[in-house]
Amino acid sequence: MATVAAPDPASLRPALRDAVETALDGGRVSNAQALTLVGAGGAELPALWAAAAWLRDQSRPGAVTYSRKVFIPLTNLCRDVCTYCTFAKDDPSPRAHTMSPEEVLRVAEAGAKLGCKEALFTLGDRPEARWPAYRERLKRLGHDSTSSFLRAMCEMVLEETGLLPHPNAGILSRRELEELREVSPSQGMMLETVSDRLTGPGMPHEEAPDKRPATRLKMIARCGELDIPFTTGILIGIGETVRERIEALLAIRDLHEQYGHIQEVIVQNFRAKPDTPMAAAGEPGLVELMTTCAVARLVLGPEMSVQAPPNLTADYGPLLLAGINDWGGVSPLTPDFVNPEAPWPDLDRLGELCADAGYTLRERLTVYPEYAADDRFLDPRLRTRVRGMYDQLNPETTAA
Ligand code: SF4
Repeated sequence: MATVAAPDPASLRPALRDAVETALDGGRVSNAQALTLVGAGGAELPALWAAAAWLRDQSRPGAVTYSRKVFIPLTNLCRDVCTYCTFAKDDPSPRAHTMSPEEVLRVAEAGAKLGCKEALFTLGDRPEARWPAYRERLKRLGHDSTSSFLRAMCEMVLEETGLLPHPNAGILSRRELEELREVSPSQGMMLETVSDRLTGPGMPHEEAPDKRPATRLKMIARCGELDIPFTTGILIGIGETVRERIEALLAIRDLHEQYGHIQEVIVQNFRAKPDTPMAAAGEPGLVELMTTCAVARLVLGPEMSVQAPPNLTADYGPLLLAGINDWGGVSPLTPDFVNPEAPWPDLDRLGELCADAGYTLRERLTVYPEYAADDRFLDPRLRTRVRGMYDQLNPETTAA
């Protein structure tokens, strides 16, 4: 088991030390304390990382988790335009694609054969609002909306392959979320940022109505009202300030304190893609990513799952020293369609790396065990299946 030494925050300036000591004493870091962490730098950073790693070990000792998944890019059409995105394509374009039910099933079956348990459905935001030919395609498939098609595909994958769907479909209505809840034990959407500045002229979200922070915060709250175990997170390096990053983490904490439904928080680093308006934008480095992960841990506390993707950082091992406890979905089959240039690490290699750092790499399902165990968060139709899967996966951390 990893044994992170009890940290000594003495090297921190008084304001930062106050915030870190509050977290280490098991207290709730206030918003004002959290915002002092904006100023952390230089020799203070290792102390911040160590504090976060120690805090992580208080509630999740010895293990780092991941979800074995297949990635199903149901459609890469989207009504929004984000200037860093290469996932979304215009219609018509040779690379625009909406999967047929047969394709979806083929990928899910292949994943099931490789031991995957999660089907991550990723797609653009409400593409039918922008692309007439896609609306026709939906009609031919027997649907009048993307969410109706998505629900049908989730149900098919669940029933035919046993993979647990995790839809990530952007902004959805209350009814759409309720319908998806019946066939998927968890759902997700990155908050990304709370910076309204980034929706301004020339900024990355100018032409992305679904990326307005207020709209996304409302959507996450809606999921809380519906008791949906929810995955969200922040995207760092798209033009937000460090203060805005912390404000986004605080907004997530507020929602979780109100509804209790945030099962994990992802800290994702922006990767610049060729042929996008942000191709020349600088990417956050490892130190910046580690520091943001550490701040997330200190602000969100020891119980929250804090995740960083292992495929977006060449040297991802040090993230374990900054308080993360989860690598997110890793696929032995399908690429990361949002970051296709970034291959998943080999799972054996990932396990070795965790072992070197003193942790056991442990598989989890798309819904975390504490949510799977709670009737409030799981549709009755899913309970037996999900809990049975946890019993088989980790008998020592059974969800039932
Ligand atoms: S909403 Fe998502 S899929 Fe659509 S353009 Fe933005 S990042 Fe790409």
